[in-house]
Amino acid sequence: MKVYSFLRGGIRYTDATVPPRDSSITAFLPGLSVIPLVQHIGSKANPVVTVGDRVGEGMLIGRGQGLGSANIHATVPGRVVRTVSWKMAEGLTNNALVIKLDGGFEKLGKHEEIFPWQSLSPFELQRIIAEYGIVEMEGSGRPVSDMLYSLRSARDPVTLVVRCVFDDPWLAADYVLLRERMKAVAEGSRIAARAGRMGRIVLVFSRGEKDLGNKLMDCMAGAELPVSLVYTRSRYPQRNRRELELVLRRFTRKEGIELGMILALGPATLAAIHDAVKLKKPILDRYVAVGGSAIKKPQVMKVRIGTRVGEIFAECGGFVDQPRRIGSGSPLLGRTMVDLDEPVIKTSFAIFAFLSGQIGGSARTRCTGCGECRVVCPVGLDPEALYKYMNGSDSRDGRAGRAAECHGCGCCEVVCPSRLPLSTTIIRSALQGN
Ligand code: SF4
Ligand code: SF4
Repeated sequence: MKVYSFLRGGIRYTDATVPPRDSSITAFLPGLSVIPLVQHIGSKANPVVTVGDRVGEGMLIGRGQGLGSANIHATVPGRVVRTVSWKMAEGLTNNALVIKLDGGFEKLGKHEEIFPWQSLSPFELQRIIAEYGIVEMEGSGRPVSDMLYSLRSARDPVTLVVRCVFDDPWLAADYVLLRERMKAVAEGSRIAARAGRMGRIVLVFSRGEKDLGNKLMDCMAGAELPVSLVYTRSRYPQRNRRELELVLRRFTRKEGIELGMILALGPATLAAIHDAVKLKKPILDRYVAVGGSAIKKPQVMKVRIGTRVGEIFAECGGFVDQPRRIGSGSPLLGRTMVDLDEPVIKTSFAIFAFLSGQIGGSARTRCTGCGECRVVCPVGLDPEALYKYMNGSDSRDGRAGRAAECHGCGCCEVVCPSRLPLSTTIIRSALQGN
């Protein structure tokens, strides 16, 4: 079995405070759900309900405003009791509808009606995916309908890459979802490929997950188009788009298979596509890895969108001590949360609470010139030089030009013994055009 890898840099990323990957537990339904009108990078949805209105489980409550915006649905039945807004750590303001749980569920615990999709056109499938507000759940949250729409004028063939690379231990929820919902992931892949008029599906797995890879391959039997299985090393950031493409180019050369353009989606997104098209169900809940050194009982949980993170932490036994940092996503790239009332959203694949001493502590000293950051940078950048340039402590020209090549993997920051905020500074400065 050939195992592919990117050639330079990267780290073996481990964290003993992530939850075990054996199974998931279902979180309690929240009495109050906080449903943000934007749950990804993009424009917010326009609310179509107001305070006092009754809503049903899965009912449309916010309508997307075209490209870059996604429909928002109520995740529990009840009444809209107020609207709230809050400032996020990035300085952006978010707005949400608060729903008080009340009344019967239309989907939870009910017999699920199956809708056949094989006779639907790509256009009809895209319309359903847009209608149910499906977004990329393991990444930026970009609407999947936008991604599919952008393929409409592709001249090259298009390949769907099913991204099952577990290079980051905080992807535990994706891993558990894949094990528990493998048939939905497989069928979601076939639906996505049809919706995007794609010519091939490639399953990409970390080499430690051969059993899972073979099982998913078995589930793809009968697929309408060719399916290949590719193994990679699990060195972080193998899952990043750039490193994934490097590996797939090497696979292409070795196998003589032309992949053309690539659309990479992860297991949670593909299961959501399955649910939208086959069950007519929006994203009501998601698998979340809850962990970190401050959490008493880390676990993978199936959580309703809109549940406040404070309630989730309480279900994990609460804190062992006052957390130093709470956040959402992988700690390497994730978003800091400022309030325990912030809700789980469509892209919250992990939430964490750290004591001081874990990543994000404040013990910063001067650069010792050890060079570790250069060794691990997969792009071949000099993070030390970029950081100093952007901080104004080194004014040599020519350094900042390559900052745009940084894809923000965070490797440099993790290995820096002086705990300098390298990637954070480089990305922020690159975005500001410094
Ligand atoms: S400079 Fe950018 S690409 Fe290089 S290791 Fe740091 S975050 Fe990753
Ligand atoms: S890893 Fe940190 S201390 Fe070492 S050279 Fe890079 S910035 Fe300096």
